[in-house]
Amino acid sequence: MTTARDPVHTSADVVWRSRAACRNEDPELFFPIGDTGPAVRQIVDAKAVCDRCPVEAYCLTWALTNGIRHGIWGGMDMEEQERSRRREDRARSRDARHWVVTDADLPDVLTPQRAAAIQRNAQRHSDPVPERVRRLAGAARKRGPKVRSQ
Ligand code: SF4
Repeated sequence: MTTARDPVHTSADVVWRSRAACRNEDPELFFPIGDTGPAVRQIVDAKAVCDRCPVEAYCLTWALTNGIRHGIWGGMDMEEQERSRRREDRARSRDARHWVVTDADLPDVLTPQRAAAIQRNAQRHSDPVPERVRRLAGAARKRGPKVRSQ
């Protein structure tokens, strides 16, 4: 969909837009006012156009990436786009909390217990385990659990 309110387009945007099912539709169809009364019919009609659009996924990604806050994009109304945005934000923050530990990330002093914890975490995420961690974690297993002195 192309409107006067769009952000700047790249050449890749021009390509997918040229295949959009809505390119000959009235752009106003995709910008309902509200979500009750006649707007409900408008939203249904707009989504029906999106349903037969070959570039639906590009359109939705473009709208979410560019922070578009009005209109039907990629077959989703604003509420659905907002939910999708929140889902992506949650996934991004999960990814940000998880990183693959390499030898370069390890501290100079690494206890066998700490190595075992790093190894468990790496295995949980199916990440490679650095050699130094593998060796030290093996030593921790041979020694058994840490016993706290009283
Ligand atoms: S998904 Fe819908 S709004 Fe997006 S380009 Fe296709 S028809 Fe247009």
